This record gives sequence, structure tokens and C-alpha cells, in this order.
Amino acid sequence: MTHFLTDDQKLVQNSVREFCQSPETQEITAAAKQAGGFPTASWEQAAAQGYIAAFVPEEYGGMGYDLTTYFVMLEELTRCGHPAANSMGAHDLGILPLLYWGTDEQKKEFLTPLGSGKSIACGAVTDPAGLTNFPQWGLTAAPDGDGIVLNGGKVMVSNAHVSDTKVIFGKPDGGHFDKVYIVPKDTAGVETGYQEKKLIPGLSDWGSINLKDVRIPAANVVKDNGFGQYWLGPSFMSIAITALVLGEGGFRMAMAYAKQRTKYDRPLHDLQAVSHKLMDMAVQLEAGRDLIYTGARLWDEGRYEEAYRLGCMSKIFVPAAANKVLHEAAILHGGVGFTPQAGIGVMWAASLQLEIAELPADVHKDFLAETYGISAGWKHGQA
Ligand SMILES: Cc1cc2nc3c(=O)[nH]c(=O)nc-3n(C[C@H](O)[C@H](O)[C@H](O)COP(=O)(O)OP(=O)(O)OC[C@H]3O[C@@H](n4cnc5c(N)ncnc54)[C@H](O)[C@@H]3O)c2cc1C
Repeated sequence: MTHFLTDDQKLVQNSVREFCQSPETQEITAAAKQAGGFPTASWEQAAAQGYIAAFVPEEYGGMGYDLTTYFVMLEELTRCGHPAANSMGAHDLGILPLLYWGTDEQKKEFLTPLGSGKSIACGAVTDPAGLTNFPQWGLTAAPDGDGIVLNGGKVMVSNAHVSDTKVIFGKPDGGHFDKVYIVPKDTAGVETGYQEKKLIPGLSDWGSINLKDVRIPAANVVKDNGFGQYWLGPSFMSIAITALVLGEGGFRMAMAYAKQRTKYDRPLHDLQAVSHKLMDMAVQLEAGRDLIYTGARLWDEGRYEEAYRLGCMSKIFVPAAANKVLHEAAILHGGVGFTPQAGIGVMWAASLQLEIAELPADVHKDFLAETYGISAGWKHGQA
């Protein structure tokens, strides 16, 4: 299905499809799959195409794509299984606060190498005490002359090791993110480690970042300039895109299986209970697509608050819908659904991470409630 794309957006869509099918891409992808871990060659290939962080303006190293075009591109890369797509969201989470809060100097210095994909970012938010457990966050930032000294740690951070620029999220004020610290990877006191292993490893990098007396200049502190945390909206939507692609893959597999598998001499989908299940999947996925691309369109029109609202809704709705679709699709495969060869069970398990990463739905519901003027109870009284 396509949303309402302009001719230019369709051009980008077709060119990414051609890029995915090219022998060079197939070869690099196969090598990345064989090697496992962070797919450096695939990342460089995507960067050379301008795909990494393509939404960043050209003056800061990007392609200046609007958000819709970026999502169309991301969707195609994800659908064809391009290994770089796994790590682009984490890179973007580091970039977005710089793009929307950074001063011109900060953007020139820190954003430009990231906008072109020549450097890699991570967005390090999760505190060992719990991402939203802000009062118990261990991270401290003590003023020290013309800079600050950071101590503490972050866990479960995508791109933790490979990132040249570690974007460390500061303790939110009143439950709202309002500052990040730019920490170059070779700064004294920065250490990365592996604390957890992913249930499904995939081609990505994940780990912890420890900060011990890490001194950064004041110029490396990026503060909310009044834009607020609206830029989280695109970040939430991009996770939803990945979930949508995964869910649509499950739907296609379920449709194909229901056509091919027979019951009482007729295709499985002739049973009304089965066809209704399939149609429930179609409705969920189409509604999810609508939320995401409407959000992107609002963002492109500069309607940031409304887009943020749809970003929260997308992150609440689409990963959960994809999980449900994949669950039903796996069961529809019968015993085959539990075999690794069928792949559908693994896709179902993979969808879990999209519900968990970048906050669980409960927190998005609180963010969403605020856009309707309802303040979340757990935030009351927070410093
Ligand atoms: C694949 C993957 C990639 C990730 N990449 C990154 C990354 O790049 N950077 C990064 O910083 N982190 C990353 N994370 C971590 C992820 O963002 C957190 O695990 C997630 O946001 C949940 O935080 P937590 O683990 O601290 O759980 P907790 O905050 O301890 O939450 C546990 C559960 O409590 C409930 N809960 C929490 N808060 C509330 C609330 N306010 N209201 C109601 N219920 C609530 C929810 O059910 C929640 O799932 C990644 C995680 C995964 C799985």
C-alpha cells in the first residue's frame, strides 16, 4: 500500500528499491549477515547514497528530505532487509535533539559529520535504574569551571560501541527531556561494555556506556531552546515504521499460507474465521500506516505539536498491532509456525523489541495525555 506520495517521493521510493536489488547491495548484505554484529560496510554504503539521516538539511551534511520522504526511504530499506536500517533509528535519536535544539555552532561542529553518516551517533537515555525512573537516575552533571563533569551510566544503548558521538540524555526536568550532553567517543573516562545480549541479536550494536569523571566543555551541552521534546515524535514514528514493515511481512506470509494450505479440500482462507482474522490484520496495519504518514505529513507542514501527538499514537498503536498480527499469523501456520524455517515465530519475537525500545506504551500514553491537557500523575513533584 502507498500513502499519498508526490512524484518526487515516488522517485525516491523506486530508487531505493533499485538500490536494494542491485548486485552490489546483495553482496554487501550477504557479507554483513555472514559476519554478524554492526554492519559497517552496509552503513558506509547507505551513507554514500545519502540515506543516513537524510532528513538533515544539506548545510549540515544531510539530503534535506522532508520527513515523509525519509520514512518512505526507511520503509524500503527496512523491507528489503538492508542491514544499515537496523541502526538508523538509534543514530537519529542522537541527531534529533541537535537538529532541533542546537545552536548554529553546535550544528556545524557536531551535526554535520553525523548528517552525512560519516560519523555515527547513539542516543543514550536508559539509566540502569529505569528509563523513566528519573528521580533515581544515577547520572550526575557537576559544573566545573567552563564545563561540566559527568558521572553515571547508560544501558541497552544501540550503537553504544560504534558511535563516534555519544549523545547522553540529561536528567529530564519535570519528566520532560530538556538537555543532552555531547560526548565524543575518545573523551577520557568514557567506557563501553556489553551487559546484555539481545534475544534476537540481529545486525546491530547494543551495550552500556559508563562515564567516569568525563569532562566536557559547556559548548557540548545542548539545551531545549523552547522547541520542547516534539522531536521525539519523528523518532517514535520511525520505530513504528519498522514495526509496520514487520507486521506487513507477517500479513503477507499469513495470506500466502492461507491460500496454499487446504482444509476440507478448500483453501484455509475459505473458512470465514480465517478470512476475518486476515482482514483484522489488514485493518490494523492500514490504520497504523495512516497514523504514521499523517504524522509525517503534519511534521512536514510545521505542525509539530499535532505531529508529536500522532508520533506518540503511532508508537502506542503500530508495534502492538504488528505484534498481534504476527502472533495470529504464527498460529495460522499451525505447527509450522513454531519452526525456525517458517520464520514467523522469530518475527513475532522480534516485534517485542519495538514495543519496548524507546519507551513502553504506558509512557507514550502519559506523553499523549499531556497533549490533551492531562498531566501524568507520576510526574507530579519531580525536580
Ligand atoms: C532493542 C532495544 C534497543 C534499545 N535501544 C536503546 C537506545 O538506543 N538508547 C537507549 O537509551 N535505550 C535503548 N533501549 C532501552 C529501552 O528504551 C528501555 O528498555 C525501555 O524504554 C524501557 O525502559 P526500562 O528497561 O528502564 O524499563 P522500566 O522503565 O523499568 O519499565 C518497566 C515496565 O514498567 C512499566 N512502566 C514504566 N514506566 C511506566 C509509567 N510511567 N507508567 C506505567 N507503566 C510504566 C512498563 O510496562 C515498562 O515496560 C533499547 C531497548 C531495546 C529492547
